[in-house]
Amino acid sequence: MMTAFIKQMKSKLEEEKKRLEQQIAQLVGGEKHKNGPNNIKWTEIGSKDDENAAEVTSYEEKLSLSKNLDKALEEVDAALQKIHDGTYGICSICGNKIPEDRLEAFPAATQHTDCSPA
Ligand SMILES: [Zn+2]
Repeated sequence: MMTAFIKQMKSKLEEEKKRLEQQIAQLVGGEKHKNGPNNIKWTEIGSKDDENAAEVTSYEEKLSLSKNLDKALEEVDAALQKIHDGTYGICSICGNKIPEDRLEAFPAATQHTDCSPA
């Protein structure tokens, strides 16, 4: 059974998913993010040493941003899957319910703050 609260979390998660997918699409130049970080656009600044260094920095920043976005998207997908399975809001460590205020603040949460390794 899906409660009103879970419905609300589901629409939040779906919005978040769209937002993340858009951000990822921007990083990879509008192409589908299928082949991992190798799709990230290389910004051509120039051919001098400092310009090359700036290109590498820009690429590395995008790479790390893309990894964060990928991870966030995975968490959102996992939470949506849990809603589908009917296990949403249950801590994956201790099996007890996660408080609604934590889920409101972080809809993709799958663990209690105390149980979370992060
Ligand atoms: Zn727990």
